[in-house]
Amino acid sequence: MRVIIIGGGIGGLTTALALHAAGIEAEVFEAAAEVKPLGVGINLQPHAVRELTELGLGERLAATGVATREFVYANRFGQEIWAEPRGLAAGYRWPQYSIHRGRLQMLLWEAARERLGAARLHTGRRLVGFGQDAAGVTAHFADGGTARGDLLVAADGIHSTVRASFFPDEGPPKWNGCLLWRAVSIAPPFRTGASMVQAGHRDQKFVCYPISSTEDGRSIVNWIAEKRFPTDHEWRREDWNRPGKVEDFLPLFADWRFAWLDVPALIRATEAVYEFPMVDRDPLPWWTQGRVTLLGDAAHPMYPIGSNGASQAILDARWLALQLATVPGIEAALAAYEAARRPATAAVVEANRGDGPDRVMDLAHQRAPNGFLRIEDVVPRAELEATVMGYKRLAGMDPAVLNERESWTPPRAA
Ligand SMILES: Cc1cc2nc3c(=O)[nH]c(=O)nc-3n(C[C@H](O)[C@H](O)[C@H](O)COP(=O)(O)OP(=O)(O)OC[C@H]3O[C@@H](n4cnc5c(N)ncnc54)[C@H](O)[C@@H]3O)c2cc1C
Repeated sequence: MRVIIIGGGIGGLTTALALHAAGIEAEVFEAAAEVKPLGVGINLQPHAVRELTELGLGERLAATGVATREFVYANRFGQEIWAEPRGLAAGYRWPQYSIHRGRLQMLLWEAARERLGAARLHTGRRLVGFGQDAAGVTAHFADGGTARGDLLVAADGIHSTVRASFFPDEGPPKWNGCLLWRAVSIAPPFRTGASMVQAGHRDQKFVCYPISSTEDGRSIVNWIAEKRFPTDHEWRREDWNRPGKVEDFLPLFADWRFAWLDVPALIRATEAVYEFPMVDRDPLPWWTQGRVTLLGDAAHPMYPIGSNGASQAILDARWLALQLATVPGIEAALAAYEAARRPATAAVVEANRGDGPDRVMDLAHQRAPNGFLRIEDVVPRAELEATVMGYKRLAGMDPAVLNERESWTPPRAA
């Protein structure tokens, strides 16, 4: 079996590695002329770290990311709403990593190059169309070339060409009115030195976590400042590298100085800011047509709430490889892939539209907009716990379930 993968992002590269580990031939076609470490930080949740660890990448991840130890929700005054241990400290068998997205992509690219061979990874190959018949599928590229395989996996992101050919009337991604300014600053370590913090509420939020450290012991902190605008506010197409301006949003956070974190100082310490609209797409009624299927953001782009977009792409990749390795017949394997992953990811997309686990911040803000003395007087602990744990269950990261569930490594690759 030979699989054509369109897109060399986190989803496409993990698919290539998972298929290779399952003994299935795979080839990656990436539109960009060169794969460069673009973007800022993301969080890889333990469910995704498990899959990458089972692909033999645990040590490389540990060397690249920061193993997150604590997660905190606070209001805009820095008063704690919820704090919990994360990763190994929370009892997972696998860490959570805060990691530079581009370095993660490079790590996967290098691993794929070593294992599949450089000849199986192509850059500068933009898919423009495809055709299929009883014997296989043919990919057509912008350079006039073609590639032939038994099936095609479209991991070509939120602007997927394959998705657009499946659903030509879908139109652009949907914006929820939030703008995100993302950046990296060098700052003194805060809290545990490996804490992820979210402060504010759904209309104005600040998120930060260290993704690395400097030789002199300071943290390289990834941060996101968010503000909700009316949905007719002018915005531009999302891109990992669109420059933004600090003066557009710094005044909104000018007095967010907490005893344990100085938000305006963190914002001022950056050298470059990137601006994104918060967008997603509606869950789809189907992902697969014959020998062609969707994966990752091409299948289920979601708001970056709950830190799950890349993690879900990694789960897609591993589950797909397991089905292709164990279910007889390509169409039956793709059906088994979609039957599990489409509803699972649709639930995360929908939950994120309702602010996912971040709803605990909204509850505290609605009930105590000017702050509180004791969070228990405002939102009972049981309500906070139900919100946070409910999301973990839905996203596949309930520690008890994840720790106990069987590996998705195909038997013959185990
Ligand atoms: C602000 C923000 C914060 C986020 N934070 C997190 C987080 O904390 N945790 C998390 O898990 N996720 C997070 N995400 C989401 C995560 O980054 C994405 O879900 C993930 O990168 C999707 O990977 P992908 O491989 O499916 O798509 P992409 O990364 O978009 O990769 C698609 C690839 O396909 C290529 N391509 C596109 N069109 C073609 C074509 N026609 N032919 C060939 N190649 C093509 C592109 O060049 C690209 O390399 C965040 C996203 C945003 C916007």
